[in-house]
This record gives sequence, C-alpha cells and structure tokens, in this order.
Amino acid sequence: MTTTDRASVLLVDDRRENLLALEAILEPLGLVHVGVTSGTEALKEVLLGDFACILLDVQMPGIDGFELAELIKQRERSAHIPIVFVTALSTEDAHVFRGYSAGAVDYIFKPVDPNILRSKVSVFVELWEKNRQLARQAEELHRRELTELEEAGEERYRQLADAMPQIVWTAGVDGGATYFNRRWFEFTGLTPDEVGPNAWHRVVHPDDLPRAVARREATLPSGETFEVEYRFRAKDGTYRWHLGRAVPIRDREGEIEFWVGTATDIHDRKLVEDQHAFLIAAGDVLSGTLDYHASLERIAELAAAEIADWCSIHVVGEGGAIVEVALAHHDPKQITFVRELQDRYPPDPESSTGAPAVIRRGEPELVPEIPPDLLERTAKDELHLELIRQLGLSSYLCVPLPGRERTLGAITLVSSSSGRRFGADELKLAEELARRAAMAIENARLYRETEERAQAARVLASIGDGVLLVDRDGRVRLWNAAAERITGLTGDDVLGHRVVDVLPGWPSAEQPGTVPLELGGPELWVSVSAVATEDGIVYAFRDLTHERALESMRQDLVATVSHELRTPLAAIYGSALTLRRDDVDLEEEIADKLLEVIAEEAGRLSEIVNDLLLASQLDTGRLQANVEPCDPVELVMLEVEAARTHLPENVTLELEAGDERQAIAADAGQLRQVLANLIDNAIKYSPDGGRVRVALEPDDRSVRFRVTDSGLGIPRDEQARIFEKFYRLDPDMTKGIGGTGLGLYICRELVRRVDGRIWVESDGRTGSTFVVEIPRSAGRVRRNGSRAGAAAA
Ligand code: ADP
Repeated sequence: MTTTDRASVLLVDDRRENLLALEAILEPLGLVHVGVTSGTEALKEVLLGDFACILLDVQMPGIDGFELAELIKQRERSAHIPIVFVTALSTEDAHVFRGYSAGAVDYIFKPVDPNILRSKVSVFVELWEKNRQLARQAEELHRRELTELEEAGEERYRQLADAMPQIVWTAGVDGGATYFNRRWFEFTGLTPDEVGPNAWHRVVHPDDLPRAVARREATLPSGETFEVEYRFRAKDGTYRWHLGRAVPIRDREGEIEFWVGTATDIHDRKLVEDQHAFLIAAGDVLSGTLDYHASLERIAELAAAEIADWCSIHVVGEGGAIVEVALAHHDPKQITFVRELQDRYPPDPESSTGAPAVIRRGEPELVPEIPPDLLERTAKDELHLELIRQLGLSSYLCVPLPGRERTLGAITLVSSSSGRRFGADELKLAEELARRAAMAIENARLYRETEERAQAARVLASIGDGVLLVDRDGRVRLWNAAAERITGLTGDDVLGHRVVDVLPGWPSAEQPGTVPLELGGPELWVSVSAVATEDGIVYAFRDLTHERALESMRQDLVATVSHELRTPLAAIYGSALTLRRDDVDLEEEIADKLLEVIAEEAGRLSEIVNDLLLASQLDTGRLQANVEPCDPVELVMLEVEAARTHLPENVTLELEAGDERQAIAADAGQLRQVLANLIDNAIKYSPDGGRVRVALEPDDRSVRFRVTDSGLGIPRDEQARIFEKFYRLDPDMTKGIGGTGLGLYICRELVRRVDGRIWVESDGRTGSTFVVEIPRSAGRVRRNGSRAGAAAA
C-alpha cells in the first residue's frame, strides 16, 4: 500500500490557492498531499486513509474547522491523527482555547511561515513513521511467536504420528507424499532416502495398485475421503491387508491444503472375513446338490481361486481305491500339463507323503515352504524332477476328509505363482473345509442308499408278482402286497412264521415250478421262482389258477365238443351213406327210419351248437334277461308236456302244481330253458328208469321249482362243481350218457340274471333234487305271452 509506505498529509482549505501554497511549502518533505476544499470531503478522506497529520483551515463555509476537528476526534480510528489549525484569525485566547478543546495539537497563523510549517509537519510525520515501525515490529513479533507456536505443535503432531501403531502419512494437493511416520519405515523396511512422493506405489500389491491409484486420482480433485483396502508389502516380502484412508485438510477459505492418510492393518480381520466368505460359498456348493462328485469339483475350483493356486480332492472309492475326483487350477493349460505328468509318472499310493499317506494316517500334512530336497525325494528321475520344478510349487497342505467311521479322502492345496505360504491359519481353514465336504459326501451317500432302499421297497410293493423272503431259519421275512392279494394271507399271518407252517405245499428253492397251495380256500395254483441271496431265499410267485382253469377248460371243451359232435355226425353220415347206396334196394320203412335218424341227430347237433353259443353269450355278458311277470304254473306245465313227447318207456313224469297262480319276475323263455334242461337231465341220468317229479312250491317271496329223480345221484363234494362250465361227473362216459357239461352252467347263469338261486340236493345214491328259486313279481301275469321269447339261440 503506497499510502502506508509514505506518510501522507491531509490539507483542508476552502480556497484552492491556499491548498496549492501549502503543497508548495511541504513539497520538500516528500509527502503525499491530499488536498480537499470542504469539511465533508475531508471527512470522506479521513474515513479512507491514514494520515500523518491534518492541516485544517478554521474558517470554511459549511462545516468549519472546529466542527470538523471534533468529528475527527470522535471517531476512534481517526482520533489519534494530529490536527494543526491554519488560521488567519487573531491569536485571541478564546479562539485558541476552542481550537485545543476541539482536538487541535497546534496552530499556525497566516501568513504561514514555511519553515515553521515544515518543521511542525515533519515532527508529526516522524512521529507517524515511528508508530508505523512500532506497529510493524509488533506484527513481526506476533508472527514469529505464532510460527514458533506452530512449529511446536507440528512437532507434537509428528511425535504423536510416530508413536501411532498405524502407518500415517501426509501428502500435498497433488497427492505426492510429504511425510511418512515411523511405523511406515518399520513395516516396509524402506529408509527415508528411499521414499519419494510415490513410495507407496512400490509397496502396494500389484493386484491392488490399479484400484488404489484410480481411487486416489478420483479423490484428489474432489476432496472426498479416500478409502481403499489393499495389501502392503512388509519388509520380509509378505503382504498384509491394510485399510488405507486419507482425508483432506482445508484452509480457512476451504481450499485443500494437504492430505493426512493412515493405513490400518486389517489383515487378520480380512483373512477371517475371506475365510468366512469362502466357507459360506463352499457350504452353498456342498448343500446345493446331492451329486457330491460335481460339488467336490466346484469346491476344488473355488479353493484354487480363493485360497491356493492348486486344489485336488481324492476320495476312497469302493474297494478302497483312492481316486482323484477333482483337480483345479485357474489356468487350464496347467491342468493339462499336470495330467500329462500324472500319466507319465502315476502317483505312488505307497508314498509317505501326499493324499494317500494323509488318508492312511488320517492326519494332515503341512509344508509351509517346499524345500528342494522334498521334490528330489518325490521325483522318480531327473526328467520328473525337472517337470515338477517347472510347476514352481512353493507351499503345500493336505488335510483328510474325516468321515464318521473312516477317512473318506483328502483335500490338497498347493501354492505356486501366488507365492502364498500356508500356515496354521490355512491349515485350520482347510480342515474346516474338509469337515464340511466330508459331511456332504456322507449325507449324499446316505441319501442315495436310503433312496435306493426306498425305491426297492416301492418297486416290491407295487410289483404284480408276490414276493417273499425266507431267511436261513426258514422264516418269512418279507411279504409284499401282491403276495397278500394272491393268497389272501396278510403280513401278520405269515411274517416271522416258518414257511412250511403258513404256506403248505410251498416248493423248495431247488425245485421251484407251478404248484398248488393248500390254503383251505379255493384251489390256488402258483408258479414260483427262487433266488438265493446272502439274507436268505427270495421267492417270486404268480397266481396261475385262472390260467390253469382256462387251460383245463380249453382241454375239456375240445374233448367234450369233439366227442359230442362226433356221435351225431357219425349217425348222420352213416344214415346218409346208406340212403345213397345204389346197390342195395332199401325198404321204404328202413329208409324212413334212416331219415328220422338224420333229422334227430341234426337236431341234437343244433342243440349242442346252441348251448355253446349261449354259454359264450353268457360269458361275454351279451345276453340280457327280459324280466316280466310270468305265470309259473303255465311255464312248468308247458315244459312237462314237451318232455312227455320223448319220454323213455321206463320213466314216469309227474307234475304237482297248485291251482293258485302267483306271478314271478322272470324272462319266460329263459326260465323255460332252465326247466327243460333240469327235466331232461333228470330223465337222462335215470338210465334204469324211475319216477321224475316236478313240483311247484310257492312262499311269501318266491316260488320254488323242484325237479326230483330217482337216478344216479350226485356225491356231496361234487354238488358245487357240476354247475361249472364243461364239468361232468363222468367225463369219459363210462355210463354211456353223453353231454357237453354246459347245461347246468347255462341254468345257473340264467337264474342269476333274474336274482334267483339254483342248487342240488342229493345223498349221492338215491337220485337228486334240483331246486330253482325265482322271486315273486309285484305285477300281474301276462297270459299267453311266454312262449315267444324261447332261449336266445
Ligand atoms: P351234461 O348233462 O351235458 O353233461 P350238465 O351241465 O347238464 O351237463 O350236467 C353236468 C353234470 O352233472 C352231468 O354230466 C352229470 O354228471 C351231472 N348231473 C346233472 N343232472 C343230474 C342228475 N339229475 N342226476 C345225476 N347227475 C346229474
């Protein structure tokens, strides 16, 4: 500031020539003159500048000199400025007094004596300069004190920073480091001469550097807090994770002055976090699938990416063979290389080191730093050694997979290019991983076994064949649903019992085949096959009763039908041939007889065919009963009359029917066929003649037709079977009575269709009584309609 360097003086006079005169007088003093012509202007100047003194004309229009002096003295900033009145007024005491009371320090009277004015003004200027100097000195002193204070503070901070266990540094606005604390030098092993503005670039892990630099470049101009996790290299060459943080320190104007940074060692926390994250990821993989081969492969990949360079997993397979199920490295080329190596030099299962040894001993193996002689010992020859060396293996760790009962396998971790060194922490981590993997393997195996068993059980339960397991003591241990269904015996009936007791007739394992089982119910034929297992003998069996019945029925049909057809056919054929003969002249009577035979036997043939057709319609359910109210007396009378037309001479046929006509609900045609059949049988099976009686027995709900003969009779144990299809008491016709065995089957089926019953009563010697019971009808009898619907054929 020019005004403060050179003293200035304010000249106040309403007349410009006076101002000029004053300036001329003061010129030699080399001062800055500020001249003004009014009190107002003077006040303005006083407000702005600092004057060594003011020369003030007393008599001015407006504010006069005295008033102006008072105003100047009232203001604190200007009160100290010496005022010299320049006046033409008299030297009367009153004036002088007023001038002094207004703050004047001196008077100069006009006309001004230049020498006096100059000497007076120079005294004030000198005084001003002294004051200025003093003020400057005081300022200087203050500044120096401040600096000293500041330096003392900085030193304190430095000591504090040095004492801190963290790394502390400061950096300029450009990011260049300006200070590192003691801990930095201790940790990095660098000397103060070695560190420059970018010293940290040399110790941050190369993998972390780009991220850290990028973040630094972003925060430097923005002034945001810099915060990045990176690895710092310690003086022994290992890396430890640090949290780097830097905050800007700003001046009063808010401009960044410099940065203070810290780097806190978070290695242990980070490791725990990473291990935690790794174990969580591994846990996810292991629980994600029951295919443990696939999950072990994923685990190996994960481990090779996160905690080692190489990871291989071996498991003990069936038969105890140790199989490598996973091998992982982030570089597939490396894997190919190792695979070739393994092919050329197969791993020695008897080796005292490596996965097989770890599995055998169930103890982990840790080699923090692989010594060259270990490789030499493991190598099989020079070439092998050379190849292993190429892998650059540096640290090795192998832990067993601990199963509940035995070691299931091993996880091997190897470090190479990363330079990782495995220690106690990594061992603990690997053991935890192995524990989880082993659990997953056992769970998967257990699940598979259970699943297989459950599946086997489901198959057994749903299979159509009966299955039973008989243990070494001959007791039934397994009995499936089909076995229950076929035999009607429940698990409770047979399980735990001896097979000979519960299944009489059961074949031995050596002679399986188709056998009848004597279970007290209907005949049961089963075809049995057997397989011996370590738990006993497993039998599978199938119900062949139906098939056997069909088979015997087929045989019966062929036998009966062929026989039954042959007899009338032979008669027809013989008669026809005789009639055709030219060489013999037949009497008319004989010719008529022959024609009669042909007609009769043809009738019999058609009856047989009708029966066959009717039986087949009944079997397939194609015959419907047309149930209506019928008169039982009328039906029975018609059939008895019909039978009388061809009654043998030694047989009498009687009918006992009440007069009361009660309607029954039946298909008249079908019921007549039933009655005709029973009456025919009664006559047919009385070869020695006798009495056939047909009786009607009504009661409240039904009417019974009884056909009684005095013929051959039917043994009790055959009475149920004669109603079976093709069943005949005398299939070989030793008694000379023919038949198809279909008649009673047809009767039973027709009677069933109208909710009636049929049975036989006989002592087996003195004839039989066949009874047909037909429910009564609620409706009224329709007369004369019954002949229409004679049997379906
Ligand atoms: P078919 O008489 O054609 O042989 P059926 O089904 O009518 O066939 O009779 C079945 C069997 O029942 C006969 O073969 C016979 O052995 C026996 N049977 C039927 N009715 C009598 C009867 N009234 N007396 C004795 N046996 C009879």
